[in-house]
Amino acid sequence: MVEAIRSVDPEVAALIEAEERRQANTIRLIASENYASSAVLSATGSVLTNKYSEGYTNKRYYQGQEVVDQIERLAIDRACDLFGAEHANVQPYSGSPANLAVYYAFCEPGDTVLGLGLPHGGHLTHGWKVNFSGRFYNAVQYSVRPDTELIDYDEVRALALEHRPKLIVAGITAYPRVVDFAAFAEIAREVGAKLLCDIAHISGLVAAGVHPSPVPHADAVSSTTHKTLRGPRGGMILCRKEHAKAINRAVFPALQGGPHNHTTAALAVALKEASTEQFKQYAQQVVTNSKVLCEGLQEAGFRLVTGGSDNHMCVVDLTPRGVFGKPVARALEKAGIVCNYNTIPYDPRKPFDPSGIRLGTPSVTSRGMKEGEMRQIASWIDRAASNMDDEAALATIAGEVAEMCAQFPAPGLPQH
Ligand SMILES: *Cc1c(COP(=O)(O)O)cnc(C)c1O
Repeated sequence: MVEAIRSVDPEVAALIEAEERRQANTIRLIASENYASSAVLSATGSVLTNKYSEGYTNKRYYQGQEVVDQIERLAIDRACDLFGAEHANVQPYSGSPANLAVYYAFCEPGDTVLGLGLPHGGHLTHGWKVNFSGRFYNAVQYSVRPDTELIDYDEVRALALEHRPKLIVAGITAYPRVVDFAAFAEIAREVGAKLLCDIAHISGLVAAGVHPSPVPHADAVSSTTHKTLRGPRGGMILCRKEHAKAINRAVFPALQGGPHNHTTAALAVALKEASTEQFKQYAQQVVTNSKVLCEGLQEAGFRLVTGGSDNHMCVVDLTPRGVFGKPVARALEKAGIVCNYNTIPYDPRKPFDPSGIRLGTPSVTSRGMKEGEMRQIASWIDRAASNMDDEAALATIAGEVAEMCAQFPAPGLPQH
């Protein structure tokens, strides 16, 4: 693939190869990232990118859809089968546009929506001030409890009764525990709100049955396709039949033009991969690895937000070690370990220089790393946090990291 680019544009080809090396030689712990398979990457890079297909299967505004219609139908059928949904829209360009479409379908501008606050682990699109969801809607935000750091379902219910939202959003971006979608559904029913469950982070775990599914409880379920689901960058919406028309109209023509057919094809491939026994084992190992990584970090004196992890991510409070998120994330990068700095609930520090880091195991698990490697990673994080200003010590860790990475070839990457 890169050969074809090199003959036209050596500059970009060299940069892509540099990124391949970076992804091959580092421990990638960003919780929203993964390694798509070669099959998914190939479909993404296919000639389907050349085709315009505004509309939906058998109802298009351009001719020449005999192939694209079959591809989109496959993706829809596979999504419905895998998640047990009545309807799927596979056209959203990504997770944020998928959420925008659900808001558009269920709410009018100015309506009240209730979502988890960003500083408590919610996403920007769940009503945060600087996002469309906080600007065009009357966003009310619920939080996690200060003592347990778990979603405060009593507060969700109290706020719902007080503000009578049109839409309740249940979903997480930085929250290491199971979300009780049934509890959200009960509250939504009580106040007559619609329920959107946003499983962008956990859709792979839901598909594999290692996190409870929101599909039986929600009016709509939105997701990205590139996080734990391990597909191409994209989005999708699952919903009940009764909402199919409103959701479809919101995606097209209200918010988008032509669907990205190459992405739809890659999603179909990813959904097929995600329906295998192998993927179930992968998702189980993602969760096991997250728990073991947490334990290793706890033993090294870090504090885990909520005390541990039930999903693919750990939110680490660095305070007991006397260090902060941003410098630690930078030191880890020099040590070949890539993560993001993150606020902890009720963080006394600023979001741009917070008390924590967020780690996730989807990528390392895709490389076949298991419990032993997680313990090794925890001990590297411990060492890096103790030697943040020692460039030589960090470089030594980076060398050890690259050595271990070489033993675990990543899906989709050529071996350099
Ligand atoms: C990642 C994420 C999104 C947004 O996805 P993009 O593809 O980055 O737009 C939406 N909701 C949640 C909960 C997420 O974690």
